[in-house]
Amino acid sequence: MGSRADLHTHSTFSDGVLTPTELIELAYNHGVRVMSLSDHDTTQGLPEAFAAAARHPEFMLIPGIEMSTDIPGSEVHILGHFIDWKDERFERELVILRKSRLGRAHKMVERLTELGKPVAWERVESFAGEGAVGRPHIARALVEAGHVATVSEAFDLYLSRTGPAYVERERLTPIEVVEMLISVEGLPTIAHPRDLDNLEELLTKLKAAGLVGMEVYYQDYTPDEVERLRALADKIGLIPLGGSDYHGFGGHHQREPGDIPLPDEPVERLLALARERGALERV
Ligand code: AMP
Ligand code: ZN
Ligand code: FE
Ligand code: FE
Repeated sequence: MGSRADLHTHSTFSDGVLTPTELIELAYNHGVRVMSLSDHDTTQGLPEAFAAAARHPEFMLIPGIEMSTDIPGSEVHILGHFIDWKDERFERELVILRKSRLGRAHKMVERLTELGKPVAWERVESFAGEGAVGRPHIARALVEAGHVATVSEAFDLYLSRTGPAYVERERLTPIEVVEMLISVEGLPTIAHPRDLDNLEELLTKLKAAGLVGMEVYYQDYTPDEVERLRALADKIGLIPLGGSDYHGFGGHHQREPGDIPLPDEPVERLLALARERGALERV
């Protein structure tokens, strides 16, 4: 049995493999009735997503985004739900982030050439399509070129944070991103926090900046891990949310849309907060 809500998904507008329309049809068929499209550093899939969602009157689409940030030694991803995605200043900032993704991807492709594992830039471009380019697109080019067998192996051997072809992104801190999301009336949630060091300290700081939620129900998180994160969310005063982070490229971590044990109650709390802040009109 899947969950009624899935607050974290990706489409072809970033590194997912399904179009927003295909994604919503799949989620709907899995019983999802509240979904957020949360592509990396872009909201450009939202017009298509809203059009697709409108075909199912009882289906609620929450406008969302996932933004990457860095802390010393690791990466923190922040989801923004209910953002005012039509804000022009916000879009200008996202354009800058997407340009920096492009420059970084070029550098990673150069590194791969130096490592004797060349991929054609045109192939990366083609996998990215009109979406925000990311490491999964380079991973797919590596698979296609026969340098690795799977996307996972591409990350393990070359593209992970400690891999030889990894190039750092332009740095935004988690606090800066939380503030950016708040400035467009978004409700910020920290994504997949299980493996972060000093999590409690980070959450305390981000909560003061406006963080409202934490992903607790996520992919392969075990019941014990869920319980630990849920207790921490309670302690800090964050809503325990979750999502599948569906990308559609398979792999053993991947879950289908809605295939996470996210209860209705925290989702209702998120919706109530959105209503309180006047953001519910954006669904
Ligand atoms: P980027 O946004 O370019 O830094 O790429 C990050 C994305 O790569 C994540 O959102 C995941 O979709 C994907 N990713 C990260 N690590 C792995 C991995 N080990 N295997 C497969 N995909 C991964
Ligand atoms: Zn991704
Ligand atoms: Fe993420
Ligand atoms: Fe994600």
